[in-house]
Amino acid sequence: MKAVVVVGPKQGYKVQEVPDPKPGPDEVVIKVDRAALCYRDLLQLQGYYPRMKYPVVLGHEVVGTIVEKGSQVTDFEVGDKVTSLLYAPDGHCEYCKIGEEAYCHNRLGYSEELDGFFAEYAKIKVTSLVKVPKGTPDEGAVLAPCVTGMIYRGLSRAKLRPGETVLVTGASGGVGIHALQVAKAMGAKVIGVTTSEEKVPIVRKFADYVIVGREFSKEAKKIGDVNVVIDTVGTPTFDESLKSLWMGGRIVQIGNVDPSQAYQLKLGYVILKDIEIIGHASATKKEIEAVLKLTQEGKITPVIAGTVSLEEIDKGYEMLKDKHKIGKVLLKP
Ligand SMILES: [Zn+2]
Ligand SMILES: [Zn+2]
Repeated sequence: MKAVVVVGPKQGYKVQEVPDPKPGPDEVVIKVDRAALCYRDLLQLQGYYPRMKYPVVLGHEVVGTIVEKGSQVTDFEVGDKVTSLLYAPDGHCEYCKIGEEAYCHNRLGYSEELDGFFAEYAKIKVTSLVKVPKGTPDEGAVLAPCVTGMIYRGLSRAKLRPGETVLVTGASGGVGIHALQVAKAMGAKVIGVTTSEEKVPIVRKFADYVIVGREFSKEAKKIGDVNVVIDTVGTPTFDESLKSLWMGGRIVQIGNVDPSQAYQLKLGYVILKDIEIIGHASATKKEIEAVLKLTQEGKITPVIAGTVSLEEIDKGYEMLKDKHKIGKVLLKP
């Protein structure tokens, strides 16, 4: 089969023929229906992920159909539509037992220690599998593990209450445009912040209020008390995100566009305003199931910038970096 393979650290990727995957006893093989490109891929290609094995198949977001299953797999059948956690938990440790498999000590990451999903077929551990309910579009299901489910978990960890106000930075980005929708589906009033005038119409489609510009905290305070910020950008927006919050506010930090930059935090500000900073990166099965249901019900509309084939992967990454495009870039092998 064809796959996008990373051959070594900081050596880019190649589209090449690799052997078809065979399932082990506790694994399935899926036909990849859709995979999704992600900024994390670019960070991985830059060498920020030390646990990567080489060569490794790139890609960690997928939806597919089971074509073969191992002898110990009982809860899934050939023909089932499934998506996968971004990682494979062991399924039996203290964290896995309470449904917090994101904290499993023995977790292995797809596109890190395990081959990822930019390929015609992919092997997935049964501990990672989540069934996709019938009637859910592939374009929405593929976003559940790394985008919509991740945001749902972030807002759950921030203990978002219906009626609270959520501000989203980078609101026209692939994550931001879906963060607006997840927050709204969870009952929040939503403010979208973008730096681009041309993207106001699409942000307005999903947000109750839109702010354009880098200094957004003053405008945000005029709208009302901001209770939660989902910061999808990082150091360029963190200061304004912090200033936007009313007392008791929470920042869910999910983006960090430039990992080489540091932010100097004034502790007094955090203390006196009762601020919580929640670092956040992934989802567990229960959040993926919750957003798949919201997606099936039409409460989350996937916003897709474009879909490319394996051979067009370069074009896909150009789309991902293109500031004029809105939404996620998908891959259809
Ligand atoms: Zn991702
Ligand atoms: Zn575990």
